[in-house]
Amino acid sequence: MKNDSLPALLAASHPVRSWVRAALEQTVLPHADEWERARGIPPGGWRELAAAGLFGLPSAGAGFMESAILLEELGRTGYAGVRAAVAVHTYMTAFYLDRFGSPHQQAAYLPDVREGRRVAALALSEPEAGTDLNGITTRAEPDGAGGYRVSGRKAHVTNGSRAGFFLCLARVRTAGSRPRSLAGCGLLLVDADAPGVTTTAEPMVGWRAADVCEVTLDSVPVPAGRLLGKAGHTLSYLMTALDFERLVAGLLAIGGASRSLALTGSFARGHHVNGAPLAANQAVRHTLADLAAELDLVRTYGYSAAMRHAEGRLDTGTASTLKLRATELAVSAARACTQYHGARGYREDSEIARVHRDAAAGTITAGASELMRDLIFETTEFT
Ligand SMILES: Cc1cc2nc3c(=O)[nH]c(=O)nc-3n(C[C@H](O)[C@H](O)[C@H](O)COP(=O)(O)OP(=O)(O)OC[C@H]3O[C@@H](n4cnc5c(N)ncnc54)[C@H](O)[C@@H]3O)c2cc1C
Repeated sequence: MKNDSLPALLAASHPVRSWVRAALEQTVLPHADEWERARGIPPGGWRELAAAGLFGLPSAGAGFMESAILLEELGRTGYAGVRAAVAVHTYMTAFYLDRFGSPHQQAAYLPDVREGRRVAALALSEPEAGTDLNGITTRAEPDGAGGYRVSGRKAHVTNGSRAGFFLCLARVRTAGSRPRSLAGCGLLLVDADAPGVTTTAEPMVGWRAADVCEVTLDSVPVPAGRLLGKAGHTLSYLMTALDFERLVAGLLAIGGASRSLALTGSFARGHHVNGAPLAANQAVRHTLADLAAELDLVRTYGYSAAMRHAEGRLDTGTASTLKLRATELAVSAARACTQYHGARGYREDSEIARVHRDAAAGTITAGASELMRDLIFETTEFT
């Protein structure tokens, strides 16, 4: 794996890809419709995914390229709610612990994450603070014994009602920090069964299996030793982890776009209008060709961004470019997919309808497209 070239990583025959596809066919595809209806993955589903080895791939180093393949293939299942639930658990939340957690915190939480015993959730956003996390109001007040009492409302939390713990962003005043800045914040490990934690479902149009919830924290006791990393370093942790989150979101969206195109390509060849296959129309062929060309470019870019991360060189411009282009492409591909399927694609119970409603969330969550454009502008020299 360490020395695999880009073409080898992209190939359908890559051994990790074959293994991941087989594992997803066994553990996700037979259950995903039920998980969509139940609006979340049940405990048995989490354990089965873990037993298949899907939570054990590295989030950094050369081994991350195996994770890149898993993320793309998760996207290709066509179930963005499942892919989000798994990615938030295994990558977006666990990454903070892996990278910035103390040995004690890692030992207390990561084995349960890897084995699917406790579901991980990331609670950054609030009802009035998403793009601008400076606006968060959740507070962590020292309890006098080295721990905190945490109060506030967290919004749109994936895996919310099934979480075993939340990695929660809160205002924790540290020496030298300004009260309104992110430098005055900390990331706290909050156990979901602690007194004062309540979750309320936020039923989303798509991503139905992602179990998105609002989480209310009412003077929740958080014992000593649950503040992640060093006080005052939270801003730098967030900057690193949000770039990683954008990389993960981009790789997932590449898989989603690829699923839309696969569905549409085969449908356009087999469906007849005016006595000829839909694909006989140049307008249809050219639209699909444009989308396929864009997918090819974004996919190659996505894997080279993953390689940069594997080498410890991922930067904000690269992560934002990938996130922007991959999630926007997934929307365009889903739009074409719906159009060419006609009324049958607009049925509530069609796969196309799911792919379409799911794609729309990709350009909002993990940083809206407009924020990605701002970050790309700020990190480009235009020389
Ligand atoms: C399905 C789903 C799952 C989610 N899961 C999680 C989770 O697990 N944990 C978590 O913490 N959060 C989660 N979120 C929240 C997500 O991170 C936020 O939705 C995102 O950061 C945007 O914040 P917001 O929704 O508050 O939009 P706002 O910040 O209020 O922005 C609203 C809109 O304004 C526009 N906008 C924003 N910035 C600019 C700009 N600079 N220039 C021009 N226009 C701009 C964009 O169109 C944006 O969509 C989830 C969201 C969704 C939809």
